[in-house]
Amino acid sequence: MNVPLLDLKAQYATLKNELDEALIKTAESQYFILGPEVVKLEENICEYLGAKSAIGVSSGTDALLLALMGLDVGPGDEVICPTYSFFATAGVVSRLNAVPVFVDSDPVTFNMDPKEIEAKITDKTKVIIPVHLYGQSADMDPIMEIAKKHNLKVVEDGAQAIGVQYKDGKSVGTIGDIGCFSFFPSKNLGCFGDGGMVVTMDKELGEKLRVLRVHGGKPKYYHSMIGGNFRLDAIQAAVLNVKLPHLDSWSAKRRENAELYTKLFVEAGLAEGVGETELSENNKVLLPKAIYKPSNHSSMQSSGSSNYHIYNQFIIRVEKRDELKQFLLDNGVMCEIYYPVPFHKQGCFTELPSSKDAYPVADKAADHSLALPIYSELTDEQIKYVVDTIAKFINS
Ligand SMILES: *Cc1c(COP(=O)(O)O)cnc(C)c1O
Repeated sequence: MNVPLLDLKAQYATLKNELDEALIKTAESQYFILGPEVVKLEENICEYLGAKSAIGVSSGTDALLLALMGLDVGPGDEVICPTYSFFATAGVVSRLNAVPVFVDSDPVTFNMDPKEIEAKITDKTKVIIPVHLYGQSADMDPIMEIAKKHNLKVVEDGAQAIGVQYKDGKSVGTIGDIGCFSFFPSKNLGCFGDGGMVVTMDKELGEKLRVLRVHGGKPKYYHSMIGGNFRLDAIQAAVLNVKLPHLDSWSAKRRENAELYTKLFVEAGLAEGVGETELSENNKVLLPKAIYKPSNHSSMQSSGSSNYHIYNQFIIRVEKRDELKQFLLDNGVMCEIYYPVPFHKQGCFTELPSSKDAYPVADKAADHSLALPIYSELTDEQIKYVVDTIAKFINS
């Protein structure tokens, strides 16, 4: 049996008519950059997330870059971020000649461990970037408390987490000062190329970000600020306007798939349950755990799970990870390592002071984690085959 890591053609097939119509309408309009479809998407995202301003941008990476520019992050400023994330989270900091300062991860969620933050704060610290990794909220209450105490800004990297709720039912991206999202095709809400969104609850800051998106020109050709070209294409917005109403049901299906994986791994005797953090005789596979239980969220009714996680990735941890990965690939199951190298071990960051600190949780995660297929259109038979194949490897 073949199990792809992601099957975008399967999702496209379910919405082909509407998507094709949106593409043709864009072609007929010959309106390509920003414009009415982008404005409509920004309104839809504001409504969906409960944000005050939304600014469509060229990618998730540019969303982060724009957010930091909007907060005037520059040379010498320090920005605290997790050491375990996709490269863009720290890369954008260095591109502004600011200094990324890393913190270790929580052993259950792999998100930034709030207990590790305060030790890294100096008089140069300006921003904290929590990442909602794999589709689950970082623990925002303590992060916001620390930010308030030390007068720091918070930029949420929600690239993997659009529509995720934290404890109180607030959407991630609307808790800190600025929220950033990516519409890269492999995210839960993906477009037909690169795209992203910046959101904020501060309308004035939103207007500043909107101007920075177009080189900082307001009016056009008059520059009191230096921005960039961070514009979203009309064609991507048109695709996203078709897809957005389906996002919650896709995420609910991912949660169902996660529940089935969990049930099957437990039945196979490979795990005792979710959220274990140590590999052992009874836990040869460590399973992800959804932690936060929002008080109100309508889309949760369609799922058996009471805690909120949208499983952009379903990450297990195993002892012989590289061998298992090869065995799965040999047997038709596509899988991937997110991420093999934490920031403190990246060649481009070796000279950073915080790269010399210890990050035992992230190091272990990098050695043991493996992403299994979790996309909405996956069948129960495919999930069963993945678990059977893993059981075969571990029991052999
Ligand atoms: C995907 C991703 C990004 C970057 O988004 P792009 O649209 O690919 O530029 C940033 N941060 C995280 C955590 C991501 O997963």
